[in-house]
Amino acid sequence: MAGAESQSLNKDLSHDRTMKERLDHFMARANAAYYATHDPFADFTTAPEISQVFGELLGLWAAVTWKSFGSPTPVSIVEMGPGRGTLMADALRAIRRAAPEFRAAASIHLIETSARLRAAQRERIGDAVWHDCLDTVPDQPMILIGNEFLDALPIRQLVRRGPGWAERFVAPSGFIEEPTEDDPAIEMEEGDIAESRESAETIAAAIAIRLTRREGAAVFLDYGPEFSAPGDSLQAIANGKPADPLGPVGAADLTAHVDFARFGAAAKRAGATVYDPIPQGLFLARLGLFQRTNQLARGLPPREAAAVMDGARRLAEPDRMGRLFKAIVLVSPGRPPPAGFESR
Ligand code: SAH
Repeated sequence: MAGAESQSLNKDLSHDRTMKERLDHFMARANAAYYATHDPFADFTTAPEISQVFGELLGLWAAVTWKSFGSPTPVSIVEMGPGRGTLMADALRAIRRAAPEFRAAASIHLIETSARLRAAQRERIGDAVWHDCLDTVPDQPMILIGNEFLDALPIRQLVRRGPGWAERFVAPSGFIEEPTEDDPAIEMEEGDIAESRESAETIAAAIAIRLTRREGAAVFLDYGPEFSAPGDSLQAIANGKPADPLGPVGAADLTAHVDFARFGAAAKRAGATVYDPIPQGLFLARLGLFQRTNQLARGLPPREAAAVMDGARRLAEPDRMGRLFKAIVLVSPGRPPPAGFESR
């Protein structure tokens, strides 16, 4: 494209923001544009892309959990935000091998809004059904998985100002604040930021309502603190590096910490039994991460074996992804904790 033309296009994109837009509206629009136009995995990596064992263990977890419910048939295996489809492909391979009766009883449902990523998923998983949201997934028992899905959902940010609160908006000049009547009802100091994510709570409630009607479980793995904490956790990644979250719309992946406490509370209010988040490293180790990885490494040349071992350590070590990342599980009312969640 000619220089002047591409310049005016860039200009249009950055001015495509209306004069003032609430942060969650901006983030939703920016991420929709980002996922529609990018292969996100050129910019960042996720657990299933780091090790095939991640998806395999979640597949086996799904099978064991389904059996613990008495093998209800038919059953849906649901994934929210499947990315490239790697997790589900690895999970289904493990399920076919270890629990063919689960595979035979199950239909696969992928909840994905990006047409581009749907196409990538279709290449990995032929016989799935795609959905925009949970509403159209059949009303039957389900095992649901979401990895690094919630962190991409839009957040609002309220700032403590004097006796009240101000809301952060995105304007052409950057963030601006406007007084709001909304009150996050938490103790905070002047200038502190309280984040909220209504869409995640809506999803928690929708899943919980299903779990009250039909047998099932939903596990989410994501990053964030266990307890709600003040602070600005909005981050942008472009080309593998931190970027300006308010840069050109659609150029970067925007995420923010998941507030597991609020997510779990929303699911509980809607009737699910919720087991507290546990560190990803502990969860995966309990499911056999290192046993399975060792077994895999034994069949490989030394270099590849070392890479496979390092992948597992990256997922589990506390100073890497093992502690900041956590797993939380929602189950049908009164059900005991699924594998890995027994106690802390
Ligand atoms: N789970 C994958 C991908 C994580 S990236 C992995 O671990 O590699 C986030 C994924 O969620 C992408 O597939 C993105 O397109 C999808 N996504 C983001 N917002 C969504 C929404 N509101 N509804 C459905 N999918 C969404």
